[in-house]
Amino acid sequence: MALVSLKQLVTDASRRQYAVGSFNVVNMDTLKAILEAAEENASPVILSVAEAHFGFINLEEFSPIILRAAEKAKVPVAVHLDHGQSFPALVKALRNGFTSVMFDGSILPLEENIARTKEITRMAHAIDVSVEAELGHVTGGEGDSSPGVADPSLFTDPEEAKRFVAETKVDALAVAVGSVHGIYKGTPELDIPRLAKIRDLAGVPLVLHGGSGLSDDDFQQAITHGIAKINVYTDMSQAAMAKIRTVNTLPETLGFPEFMSLVHEAIKEAVTKKMQIFGSVGKAR
Ligand SMILES: [Zn+2]
Repeated sequence: MALVSLKQLVTDASRRQYAVGSFNVVNMDTLKAILEAAEENASPVILSVAEAHFGFINLEEFSPIILRAAEKAKVPVAVHLDHGQSFPALVKALRNGFTSVMFDGSILPLEENIARTKEITRMAHAIDVSVEAELGHVTGGEGDSSPGVADPSLFTDPEEAKRFVAETKVDALAVAVGSVHGIYKGTPELDIPRLAKIRDLAGVPLVLHGGSGLSDDDFQQAITHGIAKINVYTDMSQAAMAKIRTVNTLPETLGFPEFMSLVHEAIKEAVTKKMQIFGSVGKAR
């Protein structure tokens, strides 16, 4: 099975109406927990490293470990750069063997976002690496778990999405339709008619960032109307933290690696839950 491109994963997900989860790797525990969940559930998976997490993960040291684990996996795995914003980060991911990169120019004016995305796509496609870009802006920073709300003035415009994809040739497009990064303050409401229109006009698999707070039905609606990749970080991080907070209730004789394997199980459980909701369970068979 092993290492595959993002394009391959999202194309299959679009065709069979499910979404592939893209889970952030921040250390060895997250890497192992995500892959175990994928293998036990026969689910394709995307291992993503965010540029915002480069302080925790040194790409030069860690990429060989991630790639080796992906190659050995019994399910198809893509290794992806999440929210690449700087040119050096994107080049570093390409040089270290990632099979896809996200260039996030969502805060740039449209023309500049198109021009820079085009530059990245040209370079990445030359070495068979897939590209995801973002149009419109999903608020809240990656890895930032402070509560926020969506800003409709930043939602993706369907006509602009059509032009953006035609000019940049991206393989997948992250859209802003009502979700936020981190915790949603209140109840999020997805703009499903807008999503359906973007899907029809853009013609590429779409990506949902910031799924925390969405109901199972919201995810289902999003998948039915074009979402083929869903990013998950906050839920995983919170599951780990909830387990860590129980440390005082555990026997004092419990060692550090034994404790970390409990944290690892909590992360695995959170990832499995998402795979079930996204409908990716069994799709690697
Ligand atoms: Zn994101």
